[in-house]
Amino acid sequence: MKPKTLELLEAMDGRMLFNDDQKRYVWNLQCGYRGECEFVQLMESVRSQHILLRDLYFEPKFSGQIQIDFLLLVGNTVIIYEVKNYSGMWQHSEEMYRQSGMERANPLIQLARTKNNFKALLRELGYPQANVDAVVFHVGSTFTLLGAPENRNVILPTQIQDHLTKLNHYQYAVSDTLVDLAVALEGVALPAPPFLKMIPKYQFESMKKGLRCCKCRCFVVRSSQRLYRCQACGHKGHCGDAVRTALADYRLLFPERLLSGAILAEWCGGLLSASQCRRILQRS
Ligand SMILES: [Zn+2]
Repeated sequence: MKPKTLELLEAMDGRMLFNDDQKRYVWNLQCGYRGECEFVQLMESVRSQHILLRDLYFEPKFSGQIQIDFLLLVGNTVIIYEVKNYSGMWQHSEEMYRQSGMERANPLIQLARTKNNFKALLRELGYPQANVDAVVFHVGSTFTLLGAPENRNVILPTQIQDHLTKLNHYQYAVSDTLVDLAVALEGVALPAPPFLKMIPKYQFESMKKGLRCCKCRCFVVRSSQRLYRCQACGHKGHCGDAVRTALADYRLLFPERLLSGAILAEWCGGLLSASQCRRILQRS
């Protein structure tokens, strides 16, 4: 599932101007999301019986908030995965990853905090004995971490196949206790709140109106009654599909705001009439 923050920012992008920091933030979120999709594909090759939970967010009573990309329950072990999709050469240090003028906190630091909070949650839920492991999993095939000491909690792109082979060596089914734990965790997981600090203020009136290409999200013009042709990517699509995309964006950005055929027509830049939009609304 795409993070809500990314969905909101993608709905806004193009309809308002982003500064360089905001553009970089969106790009980082998109990279992260692509990395998570890649991780899901890799996990599909795990043949041992397992349970994979995704995008978990908890607010335990007795510890800090917990955000987990993926949780794998296999055999009698619970593995927390923090998936990273970095590219290029980075220099490792205990605190930071560095690359020509750029720095990122070493993800192991955050992961150690997540693991501690997660263990506190397990005590709270009555599973104090569960065996918990935590792994930073780097999917980017061009990523290199120079000077990194060997660490079984960090999987680099060249170690992915080895790691999957190890997972395939679990011969036993997921223990009953962990099956119960998975149910308990899903019961207390909350929807992750969007990261509001990075979402700029926006309002309907000042946003750019129009229909966007379903492939590349550039604004398009109609080429006939029912079709559009995208000048940016060459895609030919149905106006109806583009209106439905615009409608989804509107509902995401303005969940509380009034919606009518006339308003949707305005949101679509007047490329369809209010009555056409009203019919689309009635069918949606
Ligand atoms: Zn396009």
